[in-house]
Amino acid sequence: MDGAEIEFAAAWSAEALRLMAENDVPPCPENYAVWFHYASGRTPDLNKEIDARIARHEPLDMNATAELRERLTGDGKLTDVTLNTGAKLNTEVDRILKIIEETAGNSSTFGHSVRAASESLTNQSTPNDVAHAVEAIIAASRKMEERSAELEETLHATKSELSELQQNLEMAHSEARTDGLTGVNNRKAFDEALAREVAAASADGNALCLVIGDIDHFKKFNDTFGHQTGDQVLKLVANCLKTGALEQHIVARYGGEEFAVIMPATEINLAETVTNKIRETVQARELVKRSTGESLGRVTMSMGIALLRPGETGAALIKRADDCLYAAKHAGRNRVITDMHEAETPQAKAS
Ligand code: GH3
Ligand code: MG
Ligand code: MG
Repeated sequence: MDGAEIEFAAAWSAEALRLMAENDVPPCPENYAVWFHYASGRTPDLNKEIDARIARHEPLDMNATAELRERLTGDGKLTDVTLNTGAKLNTEVDRILKIIEETAGNSSTFGHSVRAASESLTNQSTPNDVAHAVEAIIAASRKMEERSAELEETLHATKSELSELQQNLEMAHSEARTDGLTGVNNRKAFDEALAREVAAASADGNALCLVIGDIDHFKKFNDTFGHQTGDQVLKLVANCLKTGALEQHIVARYGGEEFAVIMPATEINLAETVTNKIRETVQARELVKRSTGESLGRVTMSMGIALLRPGETGAALIKRADDCLYAAKHAGRNRVITDMHEAETPQAKAS
């Protein structure tokens, strides 16, 4: 889901629940997922089909919903994982709350039984009375024990369900931050990582460099060999970046054919060496069309590097790296330009 979808999600969710109640749909996660899609209106075919079934007064039971889900919601894998997780989590929480409620109710029943049994005993009680009271207490505690064992079992089951849900959420989280084509971080992940690394570098004073690279004349490459072949080149370039970057570096697809590398704990000279090596690796790869063996020549990259200045924002750092990238383009492409200029301090200006 992107930002706009998340904004709408709450409204869609409420609408989905209302529609489910209105149509007597059993409230389970699978049904919820289908009705969430319906409320969002993102799958017109699904809405058409549901409307038709409602018009025909056909029941929308579990089977009908499963079929609709299979046929009409398409791949929407991430959405489904997220929706199911949310709905399942609610079910789990409800289940635990119910058990706790029952157990609490049970323990007050237990207290009540013990009190009643002890109150039934007086100075005049016979051994038989005492035996009855003890029996009553034993019966009450046996019942308590049974409920505790049941509670424990449920909590164990819930715990493993929850860890599975946690894994699903983590998967969804990482899918949402990965570029589908190249497998490197996407723009969203880049923005988050840059904000985090700028804050960390400002706090600990370590050198932080940012590299922005752009494939040269890529439009021409696409026009000559086709967009699909262009996509393969984007994958290859992403691989060169991942392989060439140091362990602590964060590689991301910044835009269509633009990539970025956030380089924490990296002095500018090292950043320049690493970046130049990456540029040379890209240039060195002779591209061959697998299906025909046809040579597609080579692609090159222009790259700009900037070192974070004290107090500088991420946006300002991006701007300087970008300016260097464009300087590299104007200087003839296939090169790295580094912003070596120190920030001008007021004192430096005055002297
Ligand atoms: P320059 O050297 O100045 O960067 O020239 P250029 O042709 O690379 O620059 P321009 O910005 O004019 O074109 C970028 C091209 O990148 C346009 C578009 O076809 C291509 N592109 C962007 N995203 C993708 C993608 O996901 N797949 C493919 N195959 N091409 C893409
Ligand atoms: Mg570009
Ligand atoms: Mg380009």
